[in-house]
Amino acid sequence: MSLGKSLEEMKKTSRRSNKVCAYQVMYNNLSPQDKKALDEAWASDMPTNLVVRALRQEGIKTSGDSVRAHQKGICKCPK
Ligand SMILES: [Zn+2]
Repeated sequence: MSLGKSLEEMKKTSRRSNKVCAYQVMYNNLSPQDKKALDEAWASDMPTNLVVRALRQEGIKTSGDSVRAHQKGICKCPK
């Protein structure tokens, strides 16, 4: 990817992060396959801590707190 394109992406991402919570920003940046895997993990009632650990293993930073806040609907995402 060219620098110009990367900078554009960054701009989009940071704009988005003003509107949605950290979890949603992380989710938005996942590849389609990763989104699917994550959706399936939640659908199968996988414990939050395990999912967060798996994400961290993939170098994706997120926290149990932001996941829980998002799932409870008490995050800053537009409702
Ligand atoms: Zn959220």
